[in-house]
This record gives sequence, C-alpha cells and structure tokens, in this order.
Amino acid sequence: MSIPKALGIEINSLEHFSWPDGKKSALAFGWHVDGEAGALAGEPGNVDHFTARSEGSYGVSTALPRILEMHDRLGVPGTFFFPAYIAEMNPQIVRTLIEHGHDIGLHGYLHENVFTLSEEEEREIFKKSYRILCDVAGQKILGWSAPTWGVRKSTLEAIVELGMIYDCSLMEYDDPYLIKTSRGTLVELPISPVLDDWPIFGMSISPSGGNGVNTTAEAACQIWKEEFDGMRRFGGFYTTTFHPNLTGRRGRLNRLYELLEYMKNFDDVWFTTCKDAASHVLDLARVVSGGAIE
Ligand SMILES: [Zn+2]
Repeated sequence: MSIPKALGIEINSLEHFSWPDGKKSALAFGWHVDGEAGALAGEPGNVDHFTARSEGSYGVSTALPRILEMHDRLGVPGTFFFPAYIAEMNPQIVRTLIEHGHDIGLHGYLHENVFTLSEEEEREIFKKSYRILCDVAGQKILGWSAPTWGVRKSTLEAIVELGMIYDCSLMEYDDPYLIKTSRGTLVELPISPVLDDWPIFGMSISPSGGNGVNTTAEAACQIWKEEFDGMRRFGGFYTTTFHPNLTGRRGRLNRLYELLEYMKNFDDVWFTTCKDAASHVLDLARVVSGGAIE
C-alpha cells in the first residue's frame, strides 16, 4: 500500500505486518551516548567549560559500564547511538558493546542538528562521521538516529546513500514502515517523546536547558511501563531514547533494572536491536514485493 504523505515523503506500510516466531510486539532499547558532544555542539565556548562537559561525560565513563552490565545480566540487547566524535574518543567502549552483541548506530559527528547546516554540510558530516564510526566499530553501521530530532528529506537520502538500512527518528506510527527516497528505500523505526528520558530528566548546564531534577525514576518508569503494557495490548514497536548520563544515574538505573525484570516476564515480546528489527522489516518487504526493494 503506497500512501503519498503530507510530509512530502512516500511511505509503504506492510499490510500484514508480523514479528518473528509469532511475537505480538517488539522492543529495542535505544541509548543515545551523547557524552560531551551535546554540550560542545550547543555552545562552542564550552570547550573550556569543564562542568558542562563532565555532566555529559558521566554517561560514558561512569554510567555506560553498569548499563552494559544490566543488559548482559538480563539478556536484553541494546542499540547504542554514538556521535562519531564520542566513538573516536572512546573506541574501546564501542568495541566492547559490539563484542557483547549490541547494535551500534550513528548520531552525527558532534551531535549536529541538520537544520543548522546547509545540505552540502549535512552530506559532508554524514560521510565523515559514518566513515569514522565504521572504522572504530570495525564493521558496517546500519542505522541512524537524529540528534535533537532534526530530520528532513536530504537527511533520509543521505542515510540511504551511505548504505544504512534504517532511521530511528520519526514518530507517526506504532509499527515500523518503509520510506521511499530518491536514493532508495529505508526502514523507519518509530520513536516517541513518551519513551525519551530527556523531557523527564534532562538538564543542561550550558547552554542552560531542561528541568529534569524534579521527577522521580519511579514516575518515569511508570510512564515507560504503561507504554509497554499498551504495546502488549495493541501491538507495535517500542524503542527508547535514553541517555546514559540521565537514566544511568544510580537511583534511576536501579528502577530501570526493576522495569526490565518486569518486562522480561512476557514471552510475547521480541527483545531485539534496531538493526535486527530493521532487517526483519526488509525481509518482510522482500516477501511482499517478490524480492526487489528499490
Ligand atoms: Zn543525542
């Protein structure tokens, strides 16, 4: 079914969507490992602002190891999106995540919002950051998620041009779907502000922003649990936009641990990575189209 969209992009939903092994829904935990990139991109003068930089770096040096341990202990795979600059500065962390079976995705070079760039600059940054992340990872990177949720037509085209198969940034549907660009087709894995920890916990020292120290992890996990329970009733895909420096704080991760333990009780949910979810959608689309996807 082809639907011309008001957005100006053509999408193809899969009429008989299904998950592997008869599962009713799928969950791919997503982490945005922004580190200090957000602070550096938001305010170039922050290169001398050690407090602002360290707030983000906490996520990489302190929180990420225990997040990895949580995923491993509970047997839940994760997808970790890196600004290429952060991967470049922390190559061993990227390699360790891959060794533990997790997916690595691209998240800009220095967390750029594409709307601050010309299309030419956007393309150059995509090429550079993609090459760096592939080199660090030692493998082809297959997906992208938008820093500060900036996506336009040229962004989707750049993703396809580089050979990536999925974007994880748009919000219109519950199930994944296909987007047809002038350069080819990619899988969209839909996200939601409801499953983003920034509106709940976000707090930036410089540039000043967010108001995230007034909410408990219990309240946040209640929101995320409700969305999980709703997914089990209505079906669809569930991916998170979590930040190690926010939800990786000790008290919050302690609650998230409990939530994951709850989620793991249900065997009608496919716990997967964004890469594997996108590959599954492409396989389904090939079956429907008789093998060819432009
Ligand atoms: Zn980010």
